[in-house]
Amino acid sequence: MIVVLSPHATREEMDSVAEILRGYGLNPNSCVVMNSSMIIVEGTVAPAVVSAVDELPSVERVIVVQGAQRLTSRAFRAENSRVEVGPAGETVFGGPEFVVIAGPCAVESRPQMNAAVDAVVASGAVMLRGGAFKPRTSPYSFQGLGLAGLTLLAEQRKRTGLPVVTEVVTPKDVEFVAEESDMLQIGTRNMQNFELLREAGASGRPVLLKRGMSATIEEWLLAAEYLMHVGNSRVVLCERGIRSYDRSTRFTLDLSAVAEAKRLTHLPVIVDPSHSTGQPHLVAPMSLAAAACGADGLIVDVHADARTALCDGAQALSGEQFSSLMDQLTPVVEAVGRTLAQVRSHSLSSV
Ligand code: PEP
Ligand code: MN
Repeated sequence: MIVVLSPHATREEMDSVAEILRGYGLNPNSCVVMNSSMIIVEGTVAPAVVSAVDELPSVERVIVVQGAQRLTSRAFRAENSRVEVGPAGETVFGGPEFVVIAGPCAVESRPQMNAAVDAVVASGAVMLRGGAFKPRTSPYSFQGLGLAGLTLLAEQRKRTGLPVVTEVVTPKDVEFVAEESDMLQIGTRNMQNFELLREAGASGRPVLLKRGMSATIEEWLLAAEYLMHVGNSRVVLCERGIRSYDRSTRFTLDLSAVAEAKRLTHLPVIVDPSHSTGQPHLVAPMSLAAAACGADGLIVDVHADARTALCDGAQALSGEQFSSLMDQLTPVVEAVGRTLAQVRSHSLSSV
């Protein structure tokens, strides 16, 4: 149940509604979502309690969540949400600008980060990626540099002035990953790790939520609901390919899910053309298609020397390939009435 308080409700009135809910044996959680004060109650609530709460003077409306009436839904908010990322909110997802995030799959070393970051910045990426904690299918694969990787990524954030996104894989890491980055990534393998979602949601940092490789659109949106119902409005969805029978691509990029998610939710939706296809020659065509079908941006793997990459080298674009992708994207983005997001200012220095 979502209890939306009237816009004039005071803090005391909010507390007293929460107290009344506790009196009914419920566990209320007060938060502000999309500028509205609300109290979220998980679980099933008896109809008599719903009616009684609805009658309270400081309550504007009570939403018994079933079907479409969720925080992530267009029924809750008709217009597109804009999600601002970075210290000054300089990167905006869901607005007229198409946002390109780029960088290596995994942070490997300072020279590797310098080379990849120099290349993507030169071609106009507005945000950087790089995994420090890598959830790998095999325990024998490179697992990421962990804390040291996070430090190297934060170094690039400082060097370029660009925001960074990085994956967090366990609830206990959320706090320090949030401190060292601008956006938390929840990977496909953790989309339904509900404790991680609650913790990431509560961190207040923007969250990039990748679609589970076998998740329905409904399950993906409900995972986003876990982030939002603890008060986090800054959620960006990412379609990254789903499992199909065809092994000729790594996954199957589901672009219909982008258009459908955009219809169902006000949240921005971006596309990962790298993890979905697994092959560099498919990254550009799928990126152009993503822009054409209404995606709000891309997250692209780039490595200056993919042959030596410790993680997912097979799908990484070289700096030149990334530059060519950015050139090809401009007219497509403009054809759908948008512009490619530009860096307002950056301070590329050496580390
Ligand atoms: C990644 O972006 O580094 C990653 C591991 O992606 P996914 O969770 O989509 O596999
Ligand atoms: Mn990867």
